[in-house]
Amino acid sequence: MVRLRDRLARSGSPLGARLLSVLSRTDLTEDDWDELEETLLLADIGAGPAGELLEALRTRVRVEGVREPAAVRELLRSELLNVVDPTMDRTIATTRPVVDGVAKPAVVLVVGVNGTGKTTTVGKLARVLVAEGRTVVLGAADTFRAAAADQLTTWGARVGVETVRSDREGADPAAVAFDAVAKGSRDDVDVVLVDTAGRLQNKAGLMDELGKISRVITREAPLGEVLLVLDATTGQNGMQQAKVFGEVAGVTGIVLTKLDGTAKGGIVVAVQRELGVPVKLVGLGEGPDDLAPFDPEQFVDGLLG
Ligand code: GDP
Repeated sequence: MVRLRDRLARSGSPLGARLLSVLSRTDLTEDDWDELEETLLLADIGAGPAGELLEALRTRVRVEGVREPAAVRELLRSELLNVVDPTMDRTIATTRPVVDGVAKPAVVLVVGVNGTGKTTTVGKLARVLVAEGRTVVLGAADTFRAAAADQLTTWGARVGVETVRSDREGADPAAVAFDAVAKGSRDDVDVVLVDTAGRLQNKAGLMDELGKISRVITREAPLGEVLLVLDATTGQNGMQQAKVFGEVAGVTGIVLTKLDGTAKGGIVVAVQRELGVPVKLVGLGEGPDDLAPFDPEQFVDGLLG
């Protein structure tokens, strides 16, 4: 997996630079504070967390009289960490999908709107798990688009794992998911990753479909994790999607993709706050190795550059 910090720093995320440039001015005026707020909002950090961050900064700048650039950076770093990771629980274990310590196979259902990067994420995650010595089966339960199963099968072949699919377009996605998990059980596989379709036009339909997939899977094995894939470049739109999927799919973790294509990394903060669900993985490119565990410290250091 790539290092989150290096990749974010390379994408030149300007959030940290802009914040630091304002904070290093002597005698910050109300206009300066407004500019800071705007910078945070433009980075999709969300109004609530932005307000908290500013309040904390204001107090400390005033009370501690921090001025020296290195000290301002440290202050900003610690306050950003507070909003990114309020629990201070920075163990990697909590940022990885649950594939250990559960009955075999661990089933990971991957949901989200089409185009957000679900299939690519399943492929990348399979690669990581295989590199760690685990056995994996993929389930192509996005039966809505024929091309989706082809794309997943290609990823499977690339990574060296089998893909369970139906050749019939419009086949029952729950049946494909069941077959994949059943194969995983039969073959004593460690992890089954199930890719799904994500049509948001009809919330009731989506709920029915994902509900049925979950029910059918749990006849064969417990559902270990439901990962919601969100495209970081879609900003507040992504939040709306997150809420819908949060309601219908019992999401247990977020994968935030395309962080390489945006300076709006603040969406990580907004999503965690809004959904109360941790960002577990981030996508940093289209290649097979462009997946990283979400690590708050690396993330903040990447933002600050
Ligand atoms: P799905 O419809 O949700 O399964 O989305 P796909 O996996 O087909 O991805 C849609 C597009 O986004 C493809 O062109 C992917 O290569 C691209 N993509 C996925 N993840 C990332 C990422 O982390 N960074 C970038 N830059 N592109 C990504």
